[in-house]
Amino acid sequence: MRKKIVAGNWKMNKTFEEAQALVSEVVNMVKDEVNNDAQVVLCPSFPYLATVSKTIDGNQNVLLGAQNCHQNESGAYTGEVSAAMLQSVGVKYVILGHSERRQYFYEDDQVLEAKVKAALKQGLQPIFCIGESLEQREQDLTFSILETQLKEGLFHVSNEEFERVVIAYEPIWAIGTGKTASSQQAQEVHAFIREQIARHYDAEAAQNTTILYGGSCNPGNAAELFACPDIDGGLIGGASLKSRDFVDIIKSF
Ligand code: PEP
Repeated sequence: MRKKIVAGNWKMNKTFEEAQALVSEVVNMVKDEVNNDAQVVLCPSFPYLATVSKTIDGNQNVLLGAQNCHQNESGAYTGEVSAAMLQSVGVKYVILGHSERRQYFYEDDQVLEAKVKAALKQGLQPIFCIGESLEQREQDLTFSILETQLKEGLFHVSNEEFERVVIAYEPIWAIGTGKTASSQQAQEVHAFIREQIARHYDAEAAQNTTILYGGSCNPGNAAELFACPDIDGGLIGGASLKSRDFVDIIKSF
């Protein structure tokens, strides 16, 4: 049985005090209000990881994620953070291939392939993001773009390693725009992703892989999206910065 996951990508937001307040609120609200089996993942900025890790320590339902990692294990890479460093402060998940990293930091499929390997080697679970731009969707290129992103960046991992991978479908035109994919659009793509997994690995792997939707997901649209047969939860940006909205999304299963 695949896991349901709601992951909050805080991006480059929040002061230290604000981050501490947000994580405490989320942990308490999840404890008091959530009675489904969703796995909650919080992905704050690097400087806050160790503190957030202590706050959520021992809480089975809330785990720590990072927003990126470097592909090399250690060395002269000023400003970078390795998967081993993340693992050592209690990180369990790492977002890789986010469209903002692809766009602003020029991360291509080859770099992402190496990052996925590095994360898995340290026992982290990659949340591997794929998605098409509006232009690509309008040109009917959605499926071929996603197929390439999966093949080049992810499908090099072994069957055994693939069991630890989470995929997030994040149409670029829906990220931070307030424009959500309709549940039909999202379901169609999620089913396609599952087909690709079945083709590359096997039917069991396809059935067991958690596939998240991301892109302007909020408390008003989460329930409809999460009710789709191939959508197993969400990767949440803006709405993860407010505890009330984020926890309401978690309660939407
Ligand atoms: C994201 O950046 O991963 C995301 C889904 O952002 P938002 O929810 O703000 O669209």
